[in-house]
Amino acid sequence: MNPILILLFDTLGAGHMDLYGYRRPTTPFLRRLAEEATTYERCFSSSPWTVPSHASLFTGLYPSQHGLDGRNVTLPEWQTTLPRVMRECGYATVGMSCNEFISVGSGFERGFDRFYEAWRPEALGPSELLAGLDRRPAGRWIAEAVREAVRRRSPSFPIRYGLERRRTRLHPVTDCATPSTRNVLTAIREVLSAPSAGPVFLFANLMQTHARFGAPEPFAGTFVPRSHPLRGGHDAWFGVEHHANGRFDADALEVLAALYDEEILFIDACVRDLVGFLKERRLWDATTLIITSDHGECFGEHGLVEHAFGVYNTNIHIPLLVKYPGGLKRGERDDGICQLQDLYATCLDLAEAPFPRPRHSTSLLATERRKLAVAQVLDVGFRIAACRSRNPGWVPPPFAQPCHGIVNRQLRKVIAWGDGSFNHYDLTTDPGEERPAVAPPQGGIGQDVAEAVADSLGYAPVVPGAEILAVSGGPGGAGPA
Ligand SMILES: [Zn+2]
Repeated sequence: MNPILILLFDTLGAGHMDLYGYRRPTTPFLRRLAEEATTYERCFSSSPWTVPSHASLFTGLYPSQHGLDGRNVTLPEWQTTLPRVMRECGYATVGMSCNEFISVGSGFERGFDRFYEAWRPEALGPSELLAGLDRRPAGRWIAEAVREAVRRRSPSFPIRYGLERRRTRLHPVTDCATPSTRNVLTAIREVLSAPSAGPVFLFANLMQTHARFGAPEPFAGTFVPRSHPLRGGHDAWFGVEHHANGRFDADALEVLAALYDEEILFIDACVRDLVGFLKERRLWDATTLIITSDHGECFGEHGLVEHAFGVYNTNIHIPLLVKYPGGLKRGERDDGICQLQDLYATCLDLAEAPFPRPRHSTSLLATERRKLAVAQVLDVGFRIAACRSRNPGWVPPPFAQPCHGIVNRQLRKVIAWGDGSFNHYDLTTDPGEERPAVAPPQGGIGQDVAEAVADSLGYAPVVPGAEILAVSGGPGGAGPA
């Protein structure tokens, strides 16, 4: 049995990587790595946000099967998970997380011999915490708060803004991503250097590509001037703020996208350094290295900003590179449909594990690959509550409803919305999903198929609005996701 490393870069969309054809050179090393690995061109997450997506990876199930979404964010104690099975196989299992949703409190640590919560403030030193804080002079953010209060006609806004600043200061995962990332990468080297009871199975979530975007030197300034006010002038909830109050215009969203791209350039270099370490220690040939993500990020496409609403490709098309041991499938580009939860069965195949594979996890090494990919949004109440905490009169737009998306091998896609409507796309001619058709295009997925798939996955269509009435959200109801 050989070591298996899964590096999951939270919120890294394939559409912002030149490895997948993006216009900016954000992934120079990953393009080189692709010559030694297999690049999966059409990998989809099961959800547009962290918890259901990670739960699918850990269980091999769709959100409607594992049940995690909205405010249900805890894996049940009885659930069989990938780290549990890998430990049964004799692996020394190590988990690391920079995301507070992937934590001991939410059950994601079960099955790991060791679990490092890098998101906790105590995991960072005082200087690292300080480095992540918004250090603009007080006068600047007070002036901004007053300006916003006038614009919103809300005299109480500066107080709420101040409290929000204070609250977000306590979130090093989003405001100090760089030291957390570096700590985790150092910890990975330590784990791989130390003797262990068996081959290592290591999973790490890194939050570098999650807002707030602020790449370190020398990457800062690559695509956006260092002095640009938006560099510090947004936070982890910029999408909530945008949806609730129309905060960012198209130019501002373009700047935020470029700041995000600088983060991708940084993590590309992080992977380069880690691969250099593996080669130097002669661990490279035997190791399976998996680079992936849990969902993407939107910067105005379809009216969406950030993630968690909708199942458009900007949110569910994720990168997947697998460097297999012994030169297996070296340099291949695989255009089959696959999903994040397929890594469950793939890891079991790599370990030659005598355990059942979940029905909806199809090994990347299997001869028969999956026919459909499915992504689901079961509960949007928590996001609606977050938007309403910033604008009590906010009326949810059509995208703020449960939905699922299905993509087939012919790259036809259907999005089935909770209100019973359907959008059909031909991704071969319309990769941006800008021209929905009422009826399925040739080779497409009919509504009967969409309904049958939804039914088989246990997805119960939700009447839009019903779940909104049940929401009781306080200020800042949405955490980083
Ligand atoms: Zn995430």
